[in-house]
Amino acid sequence: MQQVTSQDASDAVLGALVGDDCSWCATGSLAREEFKGDAAVVCEECGTPAARVW
Ligand SMILES: [Zn+2]
Repeated sequence: MQQVTSQDASDAVLGALVGDDCSWCATGSLAREEFKGDAAVVCEECGTPAARVW
């Protein structure tokens, strides 16, 4: 039996986004941060969250 927790899945999703170019500003790139207490991937430049785990 194999069980995948949502936390594992979210780590994979967030990890895949880190380092990508921001879609909201010209120069930013995405980094892992917390957004309002949840794991998220946020642009270093403009602070816009690209993904967030609820
Ligand atoms: Zn940005």
